[in-house]
Amino acid sequence: MKNFTYQRPAQVREALALAAAHDGTRYLGGGTNLVDLMKDGVEAPTRLVDVRQLPLKGIQLSPGGDLVIGATATNSDLAVHPEVRRHYPALSQAVLAGASGQLRNMATVGGNLLQRTRCGYFADTSQPCNKRTPGSGCAALAGEHHNHAILGWTEHCVATHPSDMCVALAAFDARVRYETLDGVSEIPLADFYLPVGDSPQRETVLPRGALITAVTLPGSAGGLRSRYRKVRERASYAFANVSVAAALDVHDGVVRGARIAFGGVASRPWRAREAEAALRDAAATPDAFRAAADAELAAARPLADNAYKVALARNLMVAVLTELTDRAELTDRAELADRAE
Ligand SMILES: Cc1cc2nc3c(=O)[nH]c(=O)nc-3n(C[C@H](O)[C@H](O)[C@H](O)COP(=O)(O)OP(=O)(O)OC[C@H]3O[C@@H](n4cnc5c(N)ncnc54)[C@H](O)[C@@H]3O)c2cc1C
Ligand code: SF4
Repeated sequence: MKNFTYQRPAQVREALALAAAHDGTRYLGGGTNLVDLMKDGVEAPTRLVDVRQLPLKGIQLSPGGDLVIGATATNSDLAVHPEVRRHYPALSQAVLAGASGQLRNMATVGGNLLQRTRCGYFADTSQPCNKRTPGSGCAALAGEHHNHAILGWTEHCVATHPSDMCVALAAFDARVRYETLDGVSEIPLADFYLPVGDSPQRETVLPRGALITAVTLPGSAGGLRSRYRKVRERASYAFANVSVAAALDVHDGVVRGARIAFGGVASRPWRAREAEAALRDAAATPDAFRAAADAELAAARPLADNAYKVALARNLMVAVLTELTDRAELTDRAELADRAE
């Protein structure tokens, strides 16, 4: 690991000034991703600005009814927050499906948004990787790619975004708030991650030195029945092969609104707009769910070794929507706890 300077500012402006003054600065959240990448030689910041002392830990309702989640709230605090469990249960489930208890105690919301891909070639500096070394090639295309993307990829990179939390955030139309020395900005999560294109090393629209300060969830997205399910290769401590976050608004057996996002299938959380459109005013039946999944996945382009993800995504989406429409299905622990109150 290369030498670096470590600083722990108490105020946001101080953190921004430090980052603006030094090109090689990285913000440090829980360090659960960044420090590993430093040890692997993938990242080599000259300055770490620890953001955990900043006053950005709070999770609270805004006067307008949106839920504002501070960027340094830990994943554990987010998962158990009463507002999250009550109004956005899929978000709580998604966070709890990720990593381990110890990691969630350290990991922050801001760091989770910006965690890097788990493509093995990205972390292996002996291999070509356009995301790590632009122009060097993509070793995964002809190599190990059974857990890589089926949607939205280009020949420049076929990696997936690894976050569980972000899939639920995408389904709920979250917005990312960030700050630079020029002021505060907020953009929809849907516009936060850049398409792969020919520059996979550029993953988000964040300007240089910008600090993520919060994520906001619209009040209008809360209160629907929602669910997150993740398929992975072992029961815990593993990234998704495919995951689905969904929220449904069903009246008299008809879908009035659907919010659906996939994880594990693309370089960013994949909002299933085609499926949502196909479901609007459709009967809430497994046949309609299957047709909607097919509409979304018509654009899938599997690689040689990951075609299984197309069927998996389809079946998982149908299963999640079926669970959400089955009124007798109350297996969700958070929901049971809320109902007991
Ligand atoms: C063994 C293991 C298993 C895991 N399994 C899963 C899993 O199943 N699902 C899952 O979703 N995740 C999983 N993770 C990843 C984990 O969720 C991330 O490592 C974590 O969320 C990153 O948060 P952090 O605060 O530690 O980020 P850090 O490592 O501190 O930072 C990550 C990046 O974000 C930047 N950053 C941090 N905070 C800010 C901010 N406020 N503003 C701007 N930039 C910022 C940093 O500069 C860095 O580039 C796993 C990790 C490990 C090590
Ligand atoms: S898929 Fe992306 S991250 Fe993986 S080797 Fe190719 S360019 Fe690198």
